Amino acid sequence: MDPILQLRGVRRSFGRIQAVDGVDLDVPRGSIYGILGPNGAGKTTTIRMILNIYTPDEGEILFDGRRLDRRATDRIGYLPEERGLYKRLKVGEHLEYMARLKGVPAGEARRRVGQWLERFELADRAMAKTNELSKGMQQKVQFIGAIIAEPEVVVLDEPFSGLDPINVELLREIIAEIQDSGRTVLFSTHVMEQAEQICDHIFLIHQGRKVLDGRLDEIVQDYPVDKVRLVGDFQESALRALPHVTTVRRDGNEWKVWLDEEGSPQQLLTELVKLGRVDLFSASRPPLSEIFIREVKGSGAASPPAGMSGGGPDGAGGGRMETTESTSSIGREGGMR
Ligand code: ATP
Repeated sequence: MDPILQLRGVRRSFGRIQAVDGVDLDVPRGSIYGILGPNGAGKTTTIRMILNIYTPDEGEILFDGRRLDRRATDRIGYLPEERGLYKRLKVGEHLEYMARLKGVPAGEARRRVGQWLERFELADRAMAKTNELSKGMQQKVQFIGAIIAEPEVVVLDEPFSGLDPINVELLREIIAEIQDSGRTVLFSTHVMEQAEQICDHIFLIHQGRKVLDGRLDEIVQDYPVDKVRLVGDFQESALRALPHVTTVRRDGNEWKVWLDEEGSPQQLLTELVKLGRVDLFSASRPPLSEIFIREVKGSGAASPPAGMSGGGPDGAGGGRMETTESTSSIGREGGMR
């Protein structure tokens, strides 16, 4: 691995609150790395230490193999969670200023500002003051500000907040382009669905401590398929009687079937074909939010994060963190991502 960023035993507290508690992390060059965790987990504090805004109480952060300093942070673009626009500046002026700050020559800065505003459908707002923009527009301007100097690492704190689905898609497209150009994107979110769709690496943090980190496909592969969606001609009692089936639920015209740890989707499919006609069969691994809950419980950390459900079919534990399931169909084994 060729890490662009390395955190070694990093700690940071605020008074009695241990916001980040001994985190080690390697961020490979060219990765899209998601920092995930519930509210208050320590994501923003970690990001601010990477940006050299906060100094760690203990541990060290290396950028491209060297201790983080001002020269390193010049190579990092940052989208803060809170609004960070110069209110009195016009949109175009603000962005040109952001580009110039990071050393982009004036003519080139103007050219890039024009291009990006066009791409984000903000060209007609170039002369507007930043505080005259809607929340979503301000977020787009901030995003452009983070990437306009084409930094080697782009750090985005909750980049999708306040954006409509079309702009979420546009951001995803641009994040992929940044990766295609060999650069690295690090972003925080508490929305697991976004992370599952965008990241190739994830870092799960809870109560300031690392719960999981590494390649998303490898993490997900460690969790067997435990749920199958079915459409077909079946009796509920017959489904319940199948080996390794723990729970059966009717959902519209679909059945949802949960398997125990010994069950496999292949074996289930074989049994189903004996029972009757199978019109749809779709097996899925647990979503990231459930993986997170299991890891948190297994790690002996104090309690599951508020706002996240338990891993079982009933979602025991209350409200769910926003999530979709990682779904793979039979015949596409190993093709999760
Ligand atoms: P969110 O998803 O809500 O933005 P987060 O994971 O980014 O949360 P942090 O902002 O890093 O979490 O906060 C971690 C902990 O540190 C919280 O308990 C928070 O109250 C505390 N904290 C963060 N910044 C400060 C500060 N400047 N002063 C005091 N406490 C702080």
